[in-house]
Amino acid sequence: GWQKLWTQVDRYMADRLVAEDEVLKRILQNNREAALPEIDVAPNQGQLLQLLVRMQGAKRILEIGTLGGYSTVWMARALPGDGELVTLEYDPHHAEVAQQNLELAGVSDKVTIRVGAALDELAKMEQERAGDFDFIFIDADKPNNPGYLEWALKFSHPGTVIVGDNVVRGGEILNPNSEDSRVRGVQTFFDMLAKDPRITATALQTVGSKGYDGFMMGIVNGPAR
Ligand code: SAM
Repeated sequence: GWQKLWTQVDRYMADRLVAEDEVLKRILQNNREAALPEIDVAPNQGQLLQLLVRMQGAKRILEIGTLGGYSTVWMARALPGDGELVTLEYDPHHAEVAQQNLELAGVSDKVTIRVGAALDELAKMEQERAGDFDFIFIDADKPNNPGYLEWALKFSHPGTVIVGDNVVRGGEILNPNSEDSRVRGVQTFFDMLAKDPRITATALQTVGSKGYDGFMMGIVNGPAR
């Protein structure tokens, strides 16, 4: 079926283009051994995040949803020597596995994992004036996407890039009566993006080894747009 074809094409492209090295492979292995759910980004999506970080020249990255730190490592590797990445994770077990993976990848000096519900951590970060990021990746619990978008915009400046994963949900976003709180979260996310003049965004459907889903990406506008 389609899934088999998508997986094979992902592999074809990854074999040629994706710089997934032994460390990244080991991280996925560590995550499996620690029984983490296999919901990390695909290798070619990790490399997309890395490319976006490089294209934008980001120095400060915020990630919402760490899991085992697979996407974290892809992005952290694109940071300059004085760059920083803050990543938010609710589950202490996930955070512990991620911390080990960051150390394995040699990026733990640049990355801070904040353990707790992301909405609470974001509020604390505001108190600590720990905001202002160049690049923000939203990839945690989808029902809270509207809240994460609000915070992302608050912690942004003109030119900040905001990326969201899993915005298609197998096409369920078309269902206006969906009772799935993740679908509703993503629908509200789209409605917010549609009418917020602070950000210009688009979304792409994705197929591949992780099934059928989608990425949203946007840039925070300057005052003159
Ligand atoms: N970005 C990761 C990657 O690609 O390797 C995958 C992240 S996974 C899709 C989502 C993560 O968000 C899970 O580890 C989950 O425990 C975490 N999470 C769920 N609810 C959360 C919340 N309220 N606050 C922070 N993290 C949460």
